Amino acid sequence: MASIKGSADVVVVGGGVIGLTIARALALRGVRDVCLVERGSLGTEASFAAAGMLLPQVEADAQDEFFNLACQSRDLYPAFAAALRDETGIDVELDTTGTLYLALTDHDYEEIKKRYDWQTRAGLSIEILSVEQARELEPCISEATLGALRFPKDIQVENRRLLSALANSVKKLGVEIATQTSVDSLIIEEGHVRGVQTSRGAISSPTVVIAAGTWSSFIKTAPQSPVPAIEPVRGQMVCLEAKPQVTRHVIYSPRGYIVPRQDGRLLAGSTSEHAGFAKCVTAGGIATILQNAIEISPAISDLPVIDTWAGLRPRAADGLPVIGPCVEIDGLFYATGHYRNGILLAPLTGELISKAIVSSQR
Ligand SMILES: Cc1cc2nc3c(=O)[nH]c(=O)nc-3n(C[C@H](O)[C@H](O)[C@H](O)COP(=O)(O)OP(=O)(O)OC[C@H]3O[C@@H](n4cnc5c(N)ncnc54)[C@H](O)[C@@H]3O)c2cc1C
Repeated sequence: MASIKGSADVVVVGGGVIGLTIARALALRGVRDVCLVERGSLGTEASFAAAGMLLPQVEADAQDEFFNLACQSRDLYPAFAAALRDETGIDVELDTTGTLYLALTDHDYEEIKKRYDWQTRAGLSIEILSVEQARELEPCISEATLGALRFPKDIQVENRRLLSALANSVKKLGVEIATQTSVDSLIIEEGHVRGVQTSRGAISSPTVVIAAGTWSSFIKTAPQSPVPAIEPVRGQMVCLEAKPQVTRHVIYSPRGYIVPRQDGRLLAGSTSEHAGFAKCVTAGGIATILQNAIEISPAISDLPVIDTWAGLRPRAADGLPVIGPCVEIDGLFYATGHYRNGILLAPLTGELISKAIVSSQR
């Protein structure tokens, strides 16, 4: 293995959707010497396991700060996807059909009514549909459907194509990429970051971004300012083959979701489990996912299962992402804890972190 580059203007730790988006945003802002360090291969962890839904409105109970940021990031997607296509020729399959949220029980119906009421009052884009209207849009939905919401702006992206496009883009933009290389600790002197110690030697740098997903808090830093605690929350997925596709919309219920892909895959998800770092698929997990997907659309019962997988969502103690400079250590930035929304929040995280770094270097 070739020896590692000894210095960089910025080191980004982690090559998931967050690290890749930040490295690209830095290069686009004119930072010339960016080095991205990835323990394994680019884009093979949580970002690869995700369903690619960009749904700030579907699950929101209130218009808080997180909700506003999530909508802002979603609304960056059309330009983000178009730019990636121009840079790399890769179509990330941003599908703007929208999302249906089904009420399948009386309790679900009360919940969707509440969501409709507050989002209408807030002037957001949302429609309430009768069963007939919902079935006209998607004939596959269950006979048990009592009503539905349609979120025209909550859309989806093919996250694996997104990762390929980002990897391609950062290479073209001249970002140095060190894969199969683990960052073990930060080099810190007198309250300033000076670089990172990796499994292949040190890289000196005045600026380091920790974007290592659920493994972020394993990176050793100064004892008085550890990386915020991030825990893994396992999510399992089932992939069915649907040719022809059974739905055009992403269809959501309070218990599960199905996501149609252009190539005939139909993703069904997911679970939310505190199972440590065991990234495995379980019989119980798959049974629950299939039960919830069939509740949405009994028509999928006959479809072949063609794949299953699991990933580890990075969750901070309060469930909110940790994005921004470390107050105790100069030159250190965090971009982690994106939990259930890392694909959604990637473009905005890239913008916020790259802007903060560039202005801190002036
Ligand atoms: C089943 C499932 C479904 C999901 N669905 C959605 C969805 O529909 N929409 C959505 O927005 N989000 C979704 N998510 C959440 C989303 O996948 C994550 O929030 C997002 O991928 C986090 O990105 P990341 O780059 O921080 O982490 P990761 O993709 O996990 O990347 C972190 C990278 O850091 C590397 N790394 C770790 N430690 C080190 C080290 N010491 N040195 C070097 N490299 C290191 C890892 O190898 C890894 O490649 C889903 C997640 C799961 C599991």
